This record gives sequence, C-alpha cells and structure tokens, in this order.
Amino acid sequence: ASIAQIEKVEKDVNSFVTLDKEGALKRAEEVQKLIDDGKLTGPLAGVPVAIKDNMCTQGMLTTCSSKILGNFRPMFTAEAVKNLEEAGAVILGKTNMDEFAMGSTTETSYYGPTKNPWNLEHVPGGSSGGSCAAVAAEEAPYALGSDTGGSIRQPSSFCGVVGIKPTYGTVSRYGLIAYGSSLDQIGPVAKDVTDCATVLETIASYDPKDSTSIRRDSYDFTSALVDDVKGMRIGIPKDYFGDGLDAEVKENILRAVKVLEEKGAVVEEFDLSLVKYAIPAYYVIASAEASSNLARFDGVKYGYRTEEYEGLHNMYKKSRSEGFGPEVKRRIMLGSFVLSSGYYDAYYLKALKTKALIKKAFDKAFEKYDVIVAPAAPTTAPELGKSLSDPIKMYLGDIYTISVNLAGLPGITIPVGKDSKGLPVGMQLIGNCFEENKIIQTAYTFE
Ligand code: GLN
Repeated sequence: ASIAQIEKVEKDVNSFVTLDKEGALKRAEEVQKLIDDGKLTGPLAGVPVAIKDNMCTQGMLTTCSSKILGNFRPMFTAEAVKNLEEAGAVILGKTNMDEFAMGSTTETSYYGPTKNPWNLEHVPGGSSGGSCAAVAAEEAPYALGSDTGGSIRQPSSFCGVVGIKPTYGTVSRYGLIAYGSSLDQIGPVAKDVTDCATVLETIASYDPKDSTSIRRDSYDFTSALVDDVKGMRIGIPKDYFGDGLDAEVKENILRAVKVLEEKGAVVEEFDLSLVKYAIPAYYVIASAEASSNLARFDGVKYGYRTEEYEGLHNMYKKSRSEGFGPEVKRRIMLGSFVLSSGYYDAYYLKALKTKALIKKAFDKAFEKYDVIVAPAAPTTAPELGKSLSDPIKMYLGDIYTISVNLAGLPGITIPVGKDSKGLPVGMQLIGNCFEENKIIQTAYTFE
C-alpha cells in the first residue's frame, strides 16, 4: 500500500531522495516469514518506514541532501535504525531534508524541495520536511526525523502530523551525521501519538557507542497513553503568545488549551522572557559545532571530489566550494568566525552561558508545571520560494523550538486545527528532562 501511494503522489510531493521499492518488498517477505515462523512479533514487525537522509543505512545512499555526499553509501547502520530493523521494520527509502539539516523549509536540499501535501504551493517545513510530508501524504505510516533546533516539531506542525523530539541522550546519535552534536536528537514522526510513542519506545536505547547516550531507568513510553489530564499543571509562557504569533495559530492553540482545562488540567500563564536570547545563542552554538563537524568532508575520505585541481589545498577548496550549498557555507563561515581566537569568548562562550541560563529558566518553570504549551512556529507553512532570500527571517521562525534543544528537553507537536487556507496548525508540548510521558499523556487527550 505504501509503494502504491508513493507511485501516486511522490512525483508531486518529492518526499524521498532515495527509494528502494524492490529492497522493501524483499525485506517485507523476509519479515513475513519470521512472523509466520513465530520468530518475530511486536507492533512494528513488517511496518514500512521512511528514514531521514542524515541517518546512515548500510549500503543505501545517505546524502544529507547534499551534493558532497551524493555518492555516499555508509558501511554501517545508525543505531536508531538498527533498533527498528531488529523490530522488523521495512525501510522504504531515505527522505529529503534541508542540506545537512540546516534550514526550516526543506528548500536548501540539493535534490529540490519537498512540497507540503496539504497544499503543493507551500513548504512542508524543515529540516525533516521529507519525513513529515511522507507521513502526511500516507507514503509511509511513520518516519524518523532529527531535531537540532526544531526540525521534527516544526515540519510536523506544518504537515499536520505528530513528531517527538526526545530528551537529549535518549536516542543514540551513533550513525546520525552530526550537525550540532550537543543539540541533535533523533525522533519519530507519525500520524498519531500512539504510533509515535510506540516508535520512540523502539528506537530509544542506551548506546555506549554514543558518548552522550544516557542510561534511563525506563524506556516505556506507551504506558503514558492514557486519557487523563486531571490535575496536570500546564504553563503558558506569556511571551510566546504575544507579538509575532499569527492570530489563527494562536486561536487554534488556545482552543486546544481550553479543552485541556475542561478536562481538569490547571492552566496558568508565566514569564519566560529569557528565551528571547535563544536564537542568537542557538545560531552561534549550532554553527560553531557544524563548522567543526563538517570539516571531515574534504573530498579525500568519502563523498564528492572536484574533477580538476592543482595540489591538495586547491582540491579541498574546490571540492568543498562545489559540494556544499549556500546555507551550509554560511553556517561554516559563521561557526569558524565565532570559534576563532579573539572572538571565542565574545561569542561562543557567551552563547554557552546563555544556554545555561535558559536551562535554569526551564528548571524553574518545571518546579511549577508538568507541561509547557507553546506554538511550534509563528505561522503555518509559508509558500514555496519565499524564505531563502532572507536567512535572518528564517532563523527567527525557530523562536519556539530552539530553546528546547538548548535545554535538552523533550517536546512533542500535535495537530490542533487548520487555518483559513486549510493548512495545519500544530501545538507544541514541552516537558522536563526524562518526562516524555507527561507530554505524551497530555497529547493523548486529542487522539
Ligand atoms: N532551522 C534550524 C536550523 O536551521 C533547525 C534545524 C534542525 O533542527 N536541524 O538550524
């Protein structure tokens, strides 16, 4: 059914960079045999999945939607994907994304933009736009995305699907091609909260191969699928619902908050004004880490190498100049600048201090609240072709998501309505570290 749907809609939506229909069918047969022989059970056995193209899949192209990795077939599979395979998942292919996960619209992909299945003139959001569009267009029942500054939660909002960014350290980053290593997390995208919790339960694991992996007491997320928010303390950051938030987005979210209140949740506004520093802090830290992480793409070890060059340095320079797109270059320049001697203290160190203050502000909020409600983005999905010309404006659109990464917190986006153009509106629920179950339980109200 997934393949039939892909054949129907993929030419319009462009969710995938790589499709492996034959491999998927073959694998489905193998899994079916294991199920028939009683060797495999579980909710994901035989269920197809789409994987964001920044997660390594052994032998299958893994491009990060970049020209520089256009021919890269990894020798190993990312731990999160391996966990899925062990549960019997069938990989349909690799999904389109902003190049190296840098962007908010999936338009920085070298392989052309993905379109929003609700309206093909609009973007699906980003950077996990391919994964979210694939789920929204029913090409795949679920997908994996990655979230460094909102890349699961924002496109989930734009595509009307559910996406979870887990607590930092919950899902192994082994085999996830790094963007901002201290912020990156893999998470599930699906049609509903139940599916998302089920997938999270499968991909989350302690992994010694990832030095930032955390051994958690429990990896049970599905027991939170209960319809009960009585007494749940919900905080609404005043600053998130003021100027800059589209009126229809606000209206839809506040209507959903009313539903929670009617069901017995205790809702209160509070001050989180410190988060206005999140955007500058995030773009300094993420770019700094990206400039370091992307140094490995030099045309020597793997990926694209320029055809003609004179000497080693010229080879590096030409391979990187031709292999990276403009947004990636912007981040590398910004990152190298803020890490360079003389500027390190003024920018990078200051950003790290800001990060610590933001974490503190959230710690304080979670003394009073179980869940924080926020938009996932200031607007619904913008039209295609309108965002890339003004990078600063695009960065400002990340205002509601990036502080969650800076603080390492879990967040979920669920659909709560549509705007007058028929585009989905999402609501973000933010939890304290290791408290995915509270946001899952609250989200489950709308299932
Ligand atoms: N839009 C943000 C950026 O460009 C976040 C991307 C992400 O989460 N990968 O950095």
